[in-house]
Amino acid sequence: MNLFWKKNPCEKCNLKFKTIEELMQHKQIVHGKEYLYDCKKCEKSFTNMNDMRTHLQRFHSYKNN
Ligand SMILES: [Zn+2]
Ligand SMILES: [Zn+2]
Repeated sequence: MNLFWKKNPCEKCNLKFKTIEELMQHKQIVHGKEYLYDCKKCEKSFTNMNDMRTHLQRFHSYKNN
C-alpha cells in the first residue's frame, strides 16, 4: 500500500490531502493546539493519551503494563 497514492484525511475535520506532509502541515496550523500526542511510529496524532495508547496497542502491538 503506497500512502502517497491515497488521500490522507484529517481525522479531525475530514479534509483530505495528497501527501502526509500536507496533512501534517494542516494539522499543525489548524489543529496544532489540539493534537498533543503523536505516534512516533506512523505520525498519527491524537487529542488524548488514551486514544494514542489504544492505537499503539492495536497497530503497533504495544504491551500494556
Ligand atoms: Zn483538519
Ligand atoms: Zn502509530
